[in-house]
Amino acid sequence: MLPRDLKYLVVGAGLWGGVLAERIASALGERVLVIDRRAHTGGNCRSFIDPDTGIECHAYGTHVFHTAIPRVWEYVSRFTRFTPYRHKVLTEHRGRVYPMPVGLAAVNMFYGLNLRPYEVDGFIRREAAASAGGGEPANLEEKAVSLVGRPLYEAFIKGYTRKQWEKDPGELPPDIITRLPVRADYNTDYFSDPWQGMPERGYAAMFDALFRNPLIEVRTGLAYADIAGNIPPACTVLYSGPLDELCGYAFGALEWRALRFERDILPYRDAQGTAVLNQADVEIPWTRSHEFKHLHPERGPQGNRTIVAREYSHACLKGDEPYYPVNTPENQSLQGRYRALLAEKMPRVVPGGRLGGYRYLDMDKTVDEALDLFETLRARASGENCA
Ligand code: UDP
Repeated sequence: MLPRDLKYLVVGAGLWGGVLAERIASALGERVLVIDRRAHTGGNCRSFIDPDTGIECHAYGTHVFHTAIPRVWEYVSRFTRFTPYRHKVLTEHRGRVYPMPVGLAAVNMFYGLNLRPYEVDGFIRREAAASAGGGEPANLEEKAVSLVGRPLYEAFIKGYTRKQWEKDPGELPPDIITRLPVRADYNTDYFSDPWQGMPERGYAAMFDALFRNPLIEVRTGLAYADIAGNIPPACTVLYSGPLDELCGYAFGALEWRALRFERDILPYRDAQGTAVLNQADVEIPWTRSHEFKHLHPERGPQGNRTIVAREYSHACLKGDEPYYPVNTPENQSLQGRYRALLAEKMPRVVPGGRLGGYRYLDMDKTVDEALDLFETLRARASGENCA
């Protein structure tokens, strides 16, 4: 049963919900109930120690915290220390392994050249000009070709993107690819952000710290649908589940991508040499594989065995866990209709996070948005208290 005077209900114990619950409890001094239909907190950041090998695994694929937003780094650092880990990704194409994202090493390996840093920009620009149509790139394919030229696009982007989204890159928006930098040096960091790292004692410990305030009650294994009829009318609901589900699929389902992981314990100290190995070719059915022990080099070799999880992307069907919104104009317009419906019919429900906002958000942007929303809630609460 829900307390009759409950003022704040957070649906989803992931990063967005966790930040909001923590702020409401710590900065407003209000009680907050957090529910999650899964059996654990942490949302898709969930990590756990494999009992057989002692290796920390990420249940929903590798999550590396990285940000360029000072207040986000300051905020998350209150709940965990971060290791100095910097994420390194490799990609395999036609039986050869290259550093990812595209940089000087990948370009030289791919073309069999020995370009110097001062030559690579001009080289890439000539390659791009030879194959780009000119004008503003209208989709992912045009954007990628304008950034790296057609041969590198065909090798490293086209197949991977098809597997990830099951759409032709010509049908996808250009901004998905701007997530990947193109570099003219031998820096092989996947992210360029100044602050990066892994929670020293794992994500589970970080989330435990986030939810530690005694004003926060967390109930896992409880779905929103089970309590939706009993929520006190004055309660603000901060909802980070799927937007279309919240609205009872009134206008039909939004399109999502889901992931499936096949996890193996392998008899090697090191199976792939880095935390994430992408598979660029469509003939290989998985998009990438995660070797979790590389996320914590400070823990040493961690035994003679390793854990590798292969990641498969597929359309999200009823009952699947949605991961990525598919950002096409049709889905964006459907999403807009759902937001309008919500504002009209359920004004106390505020959707957000990756699923509630139907946005492709990194972890740091999720924290940033939650901190912004909290300021709105705080202003509203002080207005209501004065009234
Ligand atoms: N991408 C690609 N080849 C790669 C890695 C990424 O084409 O080797 C493209 C692909 O379209 C993908 C997007 O870049 O959806 C973003 O990839 P990222 O690894 O940043 O996304 P994540 O799935 O980790 O959020």
